[in-house]
Amino acid sequence: MPSLTRAEATERAAAITVTGYAVDLDVTAPGDTFRSRTVLTFSTEPGGSTFVEWEPAALISATLNGTPLEPSALAGERLALTGLAAANELVVEAEMRYSNTGEGLHRFVDPADGRVYLYAHMFLDGARRIFPCFDQPDLKAPYTLAVTAPEDWLVAANGARVGEGGGRWEFAQTKPLATYFVSLIAGPYHAVTDEHDGIPLALYCRQALAEHLDEQADELFTVTKQCLDRYHEIFDVRYPFGHYGQAFVPEFNFGAMENPGIVVFRDEFIYRSAVTDGQREQRANVVAHEMAHQWFGDLVTMAWWDDLWLNESFAEYLGTRITAEATRFTETWTTFAMQRKAWGMRADQRPSTHPVAPTDVDDTALALLNFDGISYAKGAAVLRQLVAWVGDKAFLAGLNEHFAAHAYGNATLADLLAAVSRSSGRDLGAWADVWLRREQINTLRAEVERTDDGRYAQVTLVQTAPDEHPALRPHKLCLGLYDHGADGAVTRRRVVEVDVDPETDGGRTVIAELAGEPVADLLLVNDGDLTYAKIRLDPDSAAAVPAILSLLDDSLARAVLWSAMLDAVTDGERPVAELVTLVLAALPVEREVVIVEDVLRMTRTLVDRYPTPEARPAALEMLAQACDRLVAAAEPGSSRQLAGLRGLIGSSVDTARLQGWLDGANVPDGVTVDADLRWLILQRLVVLGAAGPEQIDAELARDRSALGEQAAARCRAALPDPEAKARAWEFVISDPDASNRILEATAQGFWQPEQLELVAPYAERYFADIPGMLARRTGMSGERLAVTAYPSVVVAERTRELAAELLARTDLSAILRRVVTDGDDDLRRALTARG
Ligand SMILES: [Zn+2]
Repeated sequence: MPSLTRAEATERAAAITVTGYAVDLDVTAPGDTFRSRTVLTFSTEPGGSTFVEWEPAALISATLNGTPLEPSALAGERLALTGLAAANELVVEAEMRYSNTGEGLHRFVDPADGRVYLYAHMFLDGARRIFPCFDQPDLKAPYTLAVTAPEDWLVAANGARVGEGGGRWEFAQTKPLATYFVSLIAGPYHAVTDEHDGIPLALYCRQALAEHLDEQADELFTVTKQCLDRYHEIFDVRYPFGHYGQAFVPEFNFGAMENPGIVVFRDEFIYRSAVTDGQREQRANVVAHEMAHQWFGDLVTMAWWDDLWLNESFAEYLGTRITAEATRFTETWTTFAMQRKAWGMRADQRPSTHPVAPTDVDDTALALLNFDGISYAKGAAVLRQLVAWVGDKAFLAGLNEHFAAHAYGNATLADLLAAVSRSSGRDLGAWADVWLRREQINTLRAEVERTDDGRYAQVTLVQTAPDEHPALRPHKLCLGLYDHGADGAVTRRRVVEVDVDPETDGGRTVIAELAGEPVADLLLVNDGDLTYAKIRLDPDSAAAVPAILSLLDDSLARAVLWSAMLDAVTDGERPVAELVTLVLAALPVEREVVIVEDVLRMTRTLVDRYPTPEARPAALEMLAQACDRLVAAAEPGSSRQLAGLRGLIGSSVDTARLQGWLDGANVPDGVTVDADLRWLILQRLVVLGAAGPEQIDAELARDRSALGEQAAARCRAALPDPEAKARAWEFVISDPDASNRILEATAQGFWQPEQLELVAPYAERYFADIPGMLARRTGMSGERLAVTAYPSVVVAERTRELAAELLARTDLSAILRRVVTDGDDDLRRALTARG
């Protein structure tokens, strides 16, 4: 479909004022369409013309100011409106198509019980799939929604419910919303309600998950209330959208979406099996993130998609911060350092990197490309640095000024910078230029000269930049001095605050106050993780890490060290063998479960790609040993035990032991082999050739749930059998009707480093087939599938040649170009590491 260009959006925003939308949906008919009737009122200069975006399956009627429109007015998903009056009323009625991609009005049939569930997801430009609209973020308007649905359903939406009965739901007019925030859920949803501080609260999920939601509602409501209270403490404006509903829906592409009054989450967040506290923390963080958006995004909306970061960086920063400040999950900055920031750093070092705040988002389709680790995590890390730089009080004062000035409207980066510049009394222009308008990351490396009597002669922080992006940046950060005492404990002797200013020191910052100080066993650069940079320790500190790492009390300090190690291995500066040795020594005694989970995840990715096929089994064996020791050392039933066990299942080659766990034999104390663990074990057995289609079918017969269907698809694709691979590939590439989740699960199961000979030929197929696949699937679901199906485990020059041939084509979509560029860059690193 044609993407709205920035030029078109600017012109339309200048010409049009939208008065309101009244949308009336009927979802009672069987089949793959629903009825949509919309009355759209707007004003403009008389005599002009414009268009609305609209994608009907079958047009029933359309009138503008009472005059029927010619069918030819609708072309290319745009409805032309000409001969406009000062005040206009567009009335249209049409059959609209349900989606199976998680975009538009998604329709899901639960395999557990055959029940039908609908939810709307409009981001980024899906509103046209439900009603005709001026689909751009700066044409906000109030919405009035009515829905006719089966009588035994539940319908919830942005607005408050004002009428219900006889299969008809009517909702109050909303505050002005951007088109992409309009949402509803409809189906036999299960609801749990509560109230806090005058705000009605609700949680929704499928009936199949009802017992789990009932059990977890208390934790979800507690987190919700704690976060609401904390936002009300730091913001002058109260939560502005009336009720606060949180719906957990099937096959959702994102973690969640911040629709005012009806936040939508992926329903994997309602747990049916045992989970770790790391997973519970992640869920709490997503609750806090979406709540931050109610102010940043929903109340004050970006004018155009180039300021997507204004939404996502702030929500990421505030979500992490508010979770730590208000809930029981106090170590979220540790998670951020290990996981989210590492995601941003990887994206920032690829050829496809872009500034946090780009200026060249020329149309809506390009905006989706920037929905990545840079807009979320690098942006949040940069905000953390900004707070260190201007101080928290000034930062929050600036935000409140920003909300007051632009409530229910739109704003830009310039507006926000002006507000924080005023509140802090500092001109942020130069700071914003290097941090927000320029891509890539600096490295901060400690250089230590010592005296003969064991003191620092000079400590220098050396800042460097990649050749192609030479900008150095100002940094405010801390250096931590740690000593390994005679009693075996490690203590932080001192923290030194450092202002790195390349304007005055040219990239070599001498830490004068450390001269004469006794040398520490560990000099930790960026202690407290305040700045965004690659960290390299001085050689003596680096050598001390294996002995000191697990003795550090502060989980954030351990996370900074782990991240630096993982980053050095990713860069090929240090071998994977060194990493797995460290993992074996330090992970079994690691106390913070999110560190355990992220180290295992990252190490596993590196072990699957970096060693040669000959060297890989030994590295995997060490990883399995580390997990085994962790399971043995962890308290029975603890999160660490579960994280270790999952790692062990994924890396073990002991099929008898794995099969035993499935049969209930020698299961570690405190572990329940529940549905999700059973699938994990079975998948590993399948990969190793120790279980086949019959076992998969039998497991699916035990677990006829949505997650069961996905796990079965993943297992079938993982069978070490040429016919199974051929079937799976064909399905991923060409099935037009399958749901996004089943396709993704199949792609996940397909590529197994254990089955290299079998899957290697599909590297050629990927580059031949993927343009066609992406042409058939839309937006986010297509992109996710293209990423998941990438032949990342076929680490060979030939794979890079195929990527280069595809990239040489001039007809590639921007999304495919990005996917291949990034996948190829990962392979380049892996090949370099192999030497
Ligand atoms: Zn967000």
